[in-house]
Amino acid sequence: MGMHSKKSRLLIWMLTAGLAVAGLSGCRKSVSEEELAGQTEAAGQEAAQTEDGSRPQEGGSGTAGLLEESGPEESLAEDDRETAGQAESGMQETEEVKETEPEETAPQILENLSGIAPGTVLNPEQLDLTDWDRYFMDWEIEEGDNLYERINGKSYRENPYVPLESLRYVKLIHYNFDGQIQVGELVISRDILDDMRNIFRELFEEEYQIQSMYLVDNYWTGDPDTTDWASIEENNTSAFCYREITGGGNLSNHAYGKAIDINPQQNPYVSYSSGSPSWSHENANEYIDRDSGLPHVITHEDPAYRIFTSYGFRWGGDWNNPKDYQHFDKN
Ligand SMILES: [Zn+2]
Repeated sequence: MGMHSKKSRLLIWMLTAGLAVAGLSGCRKSVSEEELAGQTEAAGQEAAQTEDGSRPQEGGSGTAGLLEESGPEESLAEDDRETAGQAESGMQETEEVKETEPEETAPQILENLSGIAPGTVLNPEQLDLTDWDRYFMDWEIEEGDNLYERINGKSYRENPYVPLESLRYVKLIHYNFDGQIQVGELVISRDILDDMRNIFRELFEEEYQIQSMYLVDNYWTGDPDTTDWASIEENNTSAFCYREITGGGNLSNHAYGKAIDINPQQNPYVSYSSGSPSWSHENANEYIDRDSGLPHVITHEDPAYRIFTSYGFRWGGDWNNPKDYQHFDKN
């Protein structure tokens, strides 16, 4: 990727030299935990500093502060994935590392998204995109923890059908409408976790743009339906919400965390009566014509359609009536 810092290369070079006979797996384990911890912390701070200045206004207005603490920290100390990525590239580039530089000037690679608030815009040079799992992280939600407190009584409530254990909180990176790399968050079913990890990696690789991705709880109005409305008004992409299907009746696939609505302003929910379309969000007016060629409109040619359906998801734009162009789900 060419994104490894000179510091990293120097570090790896020294380690490689010291452990010349150790082979790849030996190298991976050789960077000390302290080094890693130091790098992680510095990278996290650096990213957090960019947040207020560059976070787009739309979406969860004023949410970043609230969300600061929302990601559970227990998985921070994860493993030596960072070491592995650096060690491999360091070994390929040993000839370059001899010119040394002061360590303070070396950019830091962001180890993962722990402690990075949703909505934060990241510097691409901070990312090691050879390891997607750093930037698509998932957590269980447990009664009483920060995430639980955030969603309980809002998008989640105790019910006979959807146990808390079936849900996962996900933090990930995506491109926003300005082409910047932004942190997003979702609650989804554990049953589609692996699919979603792959889908969002593929979307990211195609630089697919999503305006914002916050939990619907950021828009909570007091009931699930008007909350969904509020989230859509802000063009927010979201997945889990314990609610019935639009119009009432059965539980929506969103209630199971097995559905996601992408860029809902450009991809509205449209119902037809005697062939005439009707829709409820005014900001969707110009997107009723699906052949407009406007950006972010999901069609059969759109990467979102291609990628989601390749993992067995259905697209709401393929339904007869209503057409739910923002919606992908999997049973
Ligand atoms: Zn939907």
